[in-house]
Amino acid sequence: MEARFKSLSLFEFQERYPTEDSCVKFLTELKWSKGYSCIKCGHKHYCKGNHVEDRQCTRCRYISSATAGTLFHGCKFSILKAFYIVYYLSTSKNGISSTELSRKLALRQKTCWLFKQKVMKAMESSRSFPMIGKVDVDETYIGGQDDQAIGRNEGRKQIVVVSIERKGKGVSRMYGRVIKTAGKKDLECFMKDHISPEAEVRTDKWAGYKGLEKEFPHLKREKSEKKGKNFTDLHRCIMMLKAWLRGVHHSVKYLQAYLDEYTYRFNRHKMKEGIFENLMNRMMQKPPYTYKMIIS
Ligand SMILES: [Zn+2]
Repeated sequence: MEARFKSLSLFEFQERYPTEDSCVKFLTELKWSKGYSCIKCGHKHYCKGNHVEDRQCTRCRYISSATAGTLFHGCKFSILKAFYIVYYLSTSKNGISSTELSRKLALRQKTCWLFKQKVMKAMESSRSFPMIGKVDVDETYIGGQDDQAIGRNEGRKQIVVVSIERKGKGVSRMYGRVIKTAGKKDLECFMKDHISPEAEVRTDKWAGYKGLEKEFPHLKREKSEKKGKNFTDLHRCIMMLKAWLRGVHHSVKYLQAYLDEYTYRFNRHKMKEGIFENLMNRMMQKPPYTYKMIIS
């Protein structure tokens, strides 16, 4: 049973999923793990469809494949290679670029980029575990040329709001979101999605946090000390996030997806559940995510 909690080794992975068929079979079992139900009419009985793992409703004859209606939907290459992409993304500590995936799997870089965006979609927070206890919030700028004079519009700089949950001597969790303005509305929306009203929230004196005591009665607005001394953990986390973005990904055009990837990994660094299994479940539960949706 121990093995289940460890991160999957490449050897174990290859043993578990040796062929295209074994991957499709795995997805089929995952999709209908709670029993089959036709998505058109709700009927509970099926027979085999055209392909071995397809299921056809015995009442309305609707055929459903394992990947239909999931993030695997419309995958233009083999499911086996798609599994490899999820595997590499789930086991690499710092993530892996689409160029590297392309080299490893003999797929076009753009193909890898697109599928990677889908996996990153699966990494998006479920928002069902709001932060509790000691929580710090701050905004920062990401992207753009730091050395450029303020006001010169490069159109790339983005405002990001970041929150951390402090536990003991460390940081247990982190969330981030690209926001249009650092005004109250956007900040409040982010905080309501990720922070429990009971939390002891700390922010700086920025006007955008004024009045949020209504939603967060324990909120304290502290004057930021020199070099942010009283927000050390938060600033260190933001620095590390920026370093990761610079190191692994040169373009941050789709910044939110990268924030989701980074915080997904960060929030799981101490958890014992298998990341590969967790990602697979999420991939199967989320609806299709098309190229059009990604770039819009
Ligand atoms: Zn049916």
